[in-house]
Amino acid sequence: MPIPELMAGWQRFRGGRFREQRELIDRITREGQQPRVLMIACCDSRVDPAILFDCDPGDIFVVRNVANLVPPYEETGRYHGTSAALEFAVVVLGVQHVVVLGHSQCGGIGALMRGDGETTPPMRFLPLWVALGQEARTVALAASGLEPAARVDLCSRLAIRLSLRNLMTFRGVRDRVEKGRLQLHGWFVDVRQGELSMLDEAVGRFVPLGCGAPGGPGDRGVGGDAAPQAAGS
Ligand SMILES: [Zn+2]
Repeated sequence: MPIPELMAGWQRFRGGRFREQRELIDRITREGQQPRVLMIACCDSRVDPAILFDCDPGDIFVVRNVANLVPPYEETGRYHGTSAALEFAVVVLGVQHVVVLGHSQCGGIGALMRGDGETTPPMRFLPLWVALGQEARTVALAASGLEPAARVDLCSRLAIRLSLRNLMTFRGVRDRVEKGRLQLHGWFVDVRQGELSMLDEAVGRFVPLGCGAPGGPGDRGVGGDAAPQAAGS
């Protein structure tokens, strides 16, 4: 989408939703944002959370990074963008839910699976970042009988579980979860199928959100993440 089309889109927004949602926009600018959900999503242009979940302005607080990874808490270094967004959402905004949203065909997870470990220019930072998911990669590589694309998707789901575990290394998150003030969720969207699945910790796998009633034809379990326990959740 070239720049003139973005400008045209802005004009459509100004003449459309901006006017239609005048009351909402007045309220969230007057009272400040009060989102109840922090969503940690991938930078991928196909998985914009606000579009996928049909959100209005102010609905969700979003941080996007390559492969929607959450690093563990650490005190070294100075630049922790995802950790800063997490801290702000949890401590300042007081969100009630944190969703780690993974997706199919993730290029970041693909790089992780390929083991693109070179950190020489022009790819200095990406390999280091996706290496956060190394534990998920190891488990996904050990799974048998998968096509390459399915193996990458498996790694994505395992990485979601790893990120959920890393979330709990942040004291502010862990305290609120243990007090019942914060819930953590792992979701995976299949871009091509238009299907959303949610991690069910009770059964240890991702279960699609059915289009019909729960338990109906559209509500079936997902195979293919048969080794998630080893991913640490
Ligand atoms: Zn991605």
